[in-house]
Amino acid sequence: MKFSNFFIPTLKESSSDVKMRSHDLMIRSGMIRQETSGIYSWMPLGFRVLKKIIDKIEFLHDEKGINQILMPTIQSSDIWRISNRYDTYGKEMLRIIDRNNKDLLYGPTNEEMITAIGKQYIKSYKNLPRRFYHIQTKFRDEIRPRYGVMRAREFLMKDAYSFDIDEVNGENTYCDFFKLYLKIFSQLGIPVIPVRAPSGEIGGNLSHEFHLVVRTGESEIFLDSKLLDQSCENFELDQILSLNSYTDDYFKEIENKKNLEKFKSIELGHIFLFGTKYSSSFNFNVDSENGKFMPFMGSYGIGISRIPAAVIELSNDNDGIIWPKAISPFSVHLINLNVDDTECSEFCEKFYKEIKSRDIDILYDDRNERPGKKFSDADLIGIPLQVICGNSFKKCRELSILKRSNKDQIDIGVGKAIKKIIEMIGWNE
Ligand code: ATP
Ligand code: MG
Repeated sequence: MKFSNFFIPTLKESSSDVKMRSHDLMIRSGMIRQETSGIYSWMPLGFRVLKKIIDKIEFLHDEKGINQILMPTIQSSDIWRISNRYDTYGKEMLRIIDRNNKDLLYGPTNEEMITAIGKQYIKSYKNLPRRFYHIQTKFRDEIRPRYGVMRAREFLMKDAYSFDIDEVNGENTYCDFFKLYLKIFSQLGIPVIPVRAPSGEIGGNLSHEFHLVVRTGESEIFLDSKLLDQSCENFELDQILSLNSYTDDYFKEIENKKNLEKFKSIELGHIFLFGTKYSSSFNFNVDSENGKFMPFMGSYGIGISRIPAAVIELSNDNDGIIWPKAISPFSVHLINLNVDDTECSEFCEKFYKEIKSRDIDILYDDRNERPGKKFSDADLIGIPLQVICGNSFKKCRELSILKRSNKDQIDIGVGKAIKKIIEMIGWNE
């Protein structure tokens, strides 16, 4: 992509009511635009980051055989009356009346709808287990929308739902999702901690949240700091249950408070095994050889649109964002400092095409702007590798390759640059 043709409306300053670093950087790097309180447009750069996250989540869900569907944003109040949540959900639910005076709502979550879907199609134990997921906008009329897309009113969530024949199978499914979540976050380059959570108004008995520990986070978790560098990806259920980490509200319920430290964090995912709570209120029965039973259910959410904000909160410096390579909008940022020079521009054009032909995402700054502006924009938008074509290209046909994270710079002859870039893109960080 050429910068001249890619709309990145960077700003020098954002407004004074912006309190969180990630919010400020997302606005200033032209990733998002506020439309009204808690409601945002995703501009081209921001949307590329969201798509990277979505692609990874879809790939890993599909790999596990979880079926993707798309449920609507608008729901009928009827199904929420069946579960008795229409009245209890409270003011966070945006209620809508259509022209026929029917009560509708903008879905804050989809347990009711997936139960109605399951009830219509799943009639026999032979149809189980089933797992579905969708990626869809949710609306929650948060009392205090803030920090940009971190706590928005309209936001993008991946939510998955499972149906099993009984509790033991349900727990296995829960365990699979637990491990899938750790894999997803690890592949996104986000070091989350799984913590025990009470299941809250969704009900049921087993629940974990996935938190990113950051000083500026809104949540509080308690954990054994040894967990900070432990990998849980191969855990089985008993190990999951014995994890020494708890959300704030769960912590109040437990007695043993030894060895636990308090950390500020951001909640990025949440899984529940709620059993027959919804299948029983929907009277959702399935035939088996020994008579009828109610499917055992769970739900599994990831706050997709919160992820970019959380990652930026963790990874930035005075000059801007520092993207982990897995979700960076581009892998390489080529900066041409001499656009007026034909030789330089011809070289950059060729170089850009060559990198692109290797399937590497590259942003090429071909704009007619001062070097200072190009450098500050590059640091602000935070692509991991900057390749600079400047004076040393004119003098000795060298490029500079700069790592955004620590500003380490190497100068390299043009002939060796592509190989070096490919090697550096594969770096492990
Ligand atoms: P929170 O405690 O942050 O309000 P929640 O527990 O109400 O979140 P869940 O119902 O567990 O949220 O939703 C699943 C995920 O959706 C959360 O883990 C979070 O990452 C994301 N999420 C929830 N509310 C918001 C919001 N207002 N803005 C952006 N993301 C959100
Ligand atoms: Mg939650």
